[in-house]
Amino acid sequence: MPGLAETLSKPVPVPDEASRPFFDGARRGVLLLRHCCACGTFMSPTGGLGTPLRPRCIACFAADLEWAPAGGRGTLYSFALMHQVYDPAFADEVPYNIAVVELDEGVRMTANVVGCANEELRIGMPLVVTFEQVSEEIAIPKFRRSI
Ligand SMILES: [Zn+2]
Repeated sequence: MPGLAETLSKPVPVPDEASRPFFDGARRGVLLLRHCCACGTFMSPTGGLGTPLRPRCIACFAADLEWAPAGGRGTLYSFALMHQVYDPAFADEVPYNIAVVELDEGVRMTANVVGCANEELRIGMPLVVTFEQVSEEIAIPKFRRSI
C-alpha cells in the first residue's frame, strides 16, 4: 500500500510569459539568470515571490536586460529545516531543507539541497546545481554538494 504522500502529487510550477525562458533553460539543464547588458550585473531569475521580473538593472538601472546562463556553482549561504507539513504531498520528506544558495555570480536563490543529509549541511559548503524533472515539461533547479 502506498502511503498517502505517494498518492498525492506535489505542486508543479506553471511558467508564464515572463518565466518561460527560465524553465526552458532548466529543461535543458541550464540555470538562467537575469543579466544586465550595460554593466554585467547578474540578478535573480525572479523579481521576488509573486512579483514580475525586474524591468531594470539593480546596479545601474539600465533597462537592457537579458537571460544569461549561470555557471551553476555557489555556496550554501543559509538554510532552514522544515518540520511542518504544509502540504500532505511533502509529508514523507519532513524535515527537508530550504536553502539560500549564493551563486558565484553573486545572486542568492532559494532551493533545496539534495543528496546530502540535513545534519551534513554547513554554511559555506560548495554546491553545484542539478535539475529535478518534476513533469514532462518542468525541471526545477536544486543543488548538491560539489566535490
Ligand atoms: Zn546594470
